[in-house]
Amino acid sequence: MFKPLKLTCILIITSIMIAACGGQSEDSPSTTKRAKLELGLPVTDNLNVIIISFDALRADALGSYGYDRPTSPNIDAFAQESIIFDDFISAAQSTPTSFASAFSGQIPFRVFHNWKVEDTQTISKVFADAGYTTVGFINNLQLDPKRHFDQGWDKFVVYKVAKDSEVLADTQTWIKENRDKKMLLWVHFLVPHSPYVKREGSEHFYKQDYAGKFPETTTGKFTLENQAEVERARNLYDGQVFFADTLFKQLKDTLEENGLMEKSIVFLTADHGEEFMDHGMVQHTSVHREVIRIPGILHHPKNTRGIRSEIPASNVDLLPTFAALANIGFEPVLDGRNLNKPISPDRIRVSQSMTGAHDRQIAVYQGQHKMITICMPGFSEMLYNVEKDPLETTDIILDHPAVATALSDHLALIMGGDPCNQMSAAANGSLPEAGLDEETIEKLKSLGYLQ
Ligand SMILES: [Zn+2]
Repeated sequence: MFKPLKLTCILIITSIMIAACGGQSEDSPSTTKRAKLELGLPVTDNLNVIIISFDALRADALGSYGYDRPTSPNIDAFAQESIIFDDFISAAQSTPTSFASAFSGQIPFRVFHNWKVEDTQTISKVFADAGYTTVGFINNLQLDPKRHFDQGWDKFVVYKVAKDSEVLADTQTWIKENRDKKMLLWVHFLVPHSPYVKREGSEHFYKQDYAGKFPETTTGKFTLENQAEVERARNLYDGQVFFADTLFKQLKDTLEENGLMEKSIVFLTADHGEEFMDHGMVQHTSVHREVIRIPGILHHPKNTRGIRSEIPASNVDLLPTFAALANIGFEPVLDGRNLNKPISPDRIRVSQSMTGAHDRQIAVYQGQHKMITICMPGFSEMLYNVEKDPLETTDIILDHPAVATALSDHLALIMGGDPCNQMSAAANGSLPEAGLDEETIEKLKSLGYLQ
């Protein structure tokens, strides 16, 4: 069903994708020879939007993103009738910053200050203003209403101590009672986030003779000291992903039984991924691919074909894209893009890791390049060619200083000043205004950053 990903040539898969091929030089981050990409989906009044997210689900832990273990049969079946965003990133590495961005369409430092979301336009407010019932069932205390994550939601349930099965049951009940309403529904499950619990039904992912430090589960925070521990943690995580897949099936069955698949966008995603010493870190600290590349699988009632899209996309795009597809007006957002309109393959995207006190990092992507700035401790930069080296193994910054300079300049423009200082000020709550002046906005438009 799916075409394998090719790195220098985007294939025509259906009429709604645009063909684009072209070589590119490494001297510049720009690859403007390639055609623009867009979804080209029909705009539909009264379209429901149902978002199902999983905590710490890295894209490449799913079969539909190339994983060779059978972790996700139900999600993969869903993907075969959906649009898979192959290059979909989170604007942040942690739960609160990722959601702040997904809700607002802006990168985290603009809207998440001193552990609170600013009062700003959000996806919930936009849909509520358009007459939608807006409901969230959220299994992660990081989205506490005290941090203002509940702004715009008619009902926003954040679970203190709950199993995902309880979240599922509550959501199913709500759907049955409210299926005729026009809805924006966001369901967030805590799996596969740590502690990685040994799951019934996932036995085939575990080594039966295992005798190390994680017999039944990891702790919430843990370290991995050797390859055997890395392997055990990954096996337990894969079992968690398999469990997440069963939750997804049950929820999708409920959507089908209540006639919602025919009148809703159903979008599967995550807040961020998870790392297993891929770059020397565990859980989700860095802005490397294993943490930042998340699943983005979009089912639209007018498209039931499996399509793999190479649009450079981010979770800041959810608000502008879903509002536009449902024909709802909204104020332009600074960072997010409507993916139903043409997007250049040279689009600049940013991800930020700002919630750790000692691990602040920023990634900026353009075309074949990704640069990572480590803000603390000290300061360093790495550059990767993510088309030739998708796993980000070889730092090429010394060979391509002009590319690094261009990306640094773009980032400073987008962030309205020195990126590390701006992010630090935002984290400390001393950056009350993170908007941009008119001149900067014009420059960003000419760079193609703004739509
Ligand atoms: Zn999370």
